[in-house]
Amino acid sequence: MRKHILLLEDEQAIADTLIYALDSEGFEVRHVHLAREALQAWGETAADLAILDVGVPDGSGFDVCRSIRRRSDMPIVFLTARHEEIDRVLGLELGADDYVVKPFSPREVVARVRAILRRAAGAAVVPSPSSSVPDGRLVLDEGTQRIACGGEYLQLTRYEFQLLATLLRRPQRIFSRAELMALVWDGAHETSERTVDAHVKLLRAKLRGRGLPADLIQTHRHMGYSIRRPD
Ligand code: CA
Repeated sequence: MRKHILLLEDEQAIADTLIYALDSEGFEVRHVHLAREALQAWGETAADLAILDVGVPDGSGFDVCRSIRRRSDMPIVFLTARHEEIDRVLGLELGADDYVVKPFSPREVVARVRAILRRAAGAAVVPSPSSSVPDGRLVLDEGTQRIACGGEYLQLTRYEFQLLATLLRRPQRIFSRAELMALVWDGAHETSERTVDAHVKLLRAKLRGRGLPADLIQTHRHMGYSIRRPD
């Protein structure tokens, strides 16, 4: 079945290249130019993923994202014109799944959309018995780039995954914020120690939601973070 993508982009030329790329990869695209049209379209038809331009004439993709997030966990990818927006996009405030900075290649966008939808689909799949694990253990699946907990995959954004995976590969090892910035946010502009802290906070909330202990990810004063070895 074709996956439905809601695309908010006010520049027709950019929208056209994206629609072409997405359509030729088998996606069904509903394209709108304005924020209020995006919300209306979202209310009318169930999309599998939204691609939102940040700057649109009647507001911002951020507002659309906030409205959607109040009622849905639908994956959201932002199209941003400026690097300095990235912290907001991926941070606590908006909780988007990914972003692409303009100018981008349509192919790159399609690849990210595919990866996110694969992750979202995986979240509902219980691993086969051969890969089942005791409750309360986090298992890093490097092949599919997912992390399982108690027979279910965690729903993680791109940076949440990278952060948790980095800690899980070396239990007990303390990573400084600078190390995490280099390992997880490799090459991303405008990353700060605050970004690391914000993502740790998000991750802890998700892990607590799965009944895992609050101190699984440990804070080491003046040093950084580590993950506890499972009991
Ligand atoms: Ca725009």
